[in-house]
Amino acid sequence: MKSNRILSGLILSLLSLTGWITPASVAQDGQTTQRRDRNVVYVTLDGFRWQELFGGAHEPFIAKDAGVANVAAVKEKFWRDSAEERRETLLPFIWKTVAKQGQIFGDPTKNAAAKLENTHKFSYPGYSEMFCGFADDEGIKSNNKIPNQHVSVLELLNQRPSFKDRIAAIASWDVFPFILNQPRSGIYCYAGITPIVGDDLTDRERLLNDLIADTVVLWPDCQIDSLIMQASREYLMKRKPRVLFIGLGETDEWAHGRRYDRYLHAAHRADAFLAGLWNLLQSLPDYKDTTSLLIACDHGRGSTIRDWTDHGAKVEGAEFVWMATMGPGIKPLGVRSDVSPTLSQIASTIAQLVGEHDHFAINSPKSAKPLIGLYGE
Ligand SMILES: [Zn+2]
Repeated sequence: MKSNRILSGLILSLLSLTGWITPASVAQDGQTTQRRDRNVVYVTLDGFRWQELFGGAHEPFIAKDAGVANVAAVKEKFWRDSAEERRETLLPFIWKTVAKQGQIFGDPTKNAAAKLENTHKFSYPGYSEMFCGFADDEGIKSNNKIPNQHVSVLELLNQRPSFKDRIAAIASWDVFPFILNQPRSGIYCYAGITPIVGDDLTDRERLLNDLIADTVVLWPDCQIDSLIMQASREYLMKRKPRVLFIGLGETDEWAHGRRYDRYLHAAHRADAFLAGLWNLLQSLPDYKDTTSLLIACDHGRGSTIRDWTDHGAKVEGAEFVWMATMGPGIKPLGVRSDVSPTLSQIASTIAQLVGEHDHFAINSPKSAKPLIGLYGE
């Protein structure tokens, strides 16, 4: 008995030294994986402003001048007297669940404005910055369909044996296969207005393909979000990815189209989608209590009735963004104060949320560090 115990003790020490087993709980720095694998679902709302995230519907924009078709109806649905009530009305899941169980970055009134590092303030540079961990103003300066020369965190994770072929990106905007360099990275990438392909389509995926064929094309390069939401849910159930990115595009499209009513509705529906997704994750043994949710946007927009529709290098304020997260081990600190996050920190944060930060930092030395304080460090 005694020698057996010594022997098993020795084996255990050896195993933990070699990293074969790890403590049951998530370590303070979030680096140590549990015995069960950790996953992340990352969702972006393209060009959704921090102003609505933290303040809900903005009264001066609930107007014909901002494209609101029925001012009274939008007021009734989204206007409330206090900023707290307004944001909870617009984004109930983010404010009643994520803000209570996790953390939200980017509130300028708490000395915590979140910024882009790139100076272009439009989508490709923003997504490249968040997925690669740094800005490249010279190399990435258009939304053209050019394969990204830089390597994203998704591509690096896909090279790890425990993540291989378990990384997926599903997005409204059809430039994502280029931003994430799909041919080189080898990750699953479904984006834009195109049928779902595969020899093992589910009944729901076949129905989705019918809907995709039947649905009006509002923007040639961007699918409406509902179809992307459904496609990503189905992919999650079918393939059980460990890292799933879902890129929603309607907030940006309706803003460019000067439709503040539809911009608000798109954000409200995205929030409901997040709620359903979170409930789904908690109902699945592969994800329950091992999955973090990360939410962000790729750029801000202008702040006046004239330029809230727009963003880009010349639009003042479009450099301000936000991000939110919750998951196992993440401290419930709510709205963070006195921090200076940048969008470039998303890449390392994704790696950290799945316990791969050290590997990512070594292989992507230019990348910014993870968002500070998620695990109370
Ligand atoms: Zn964008």
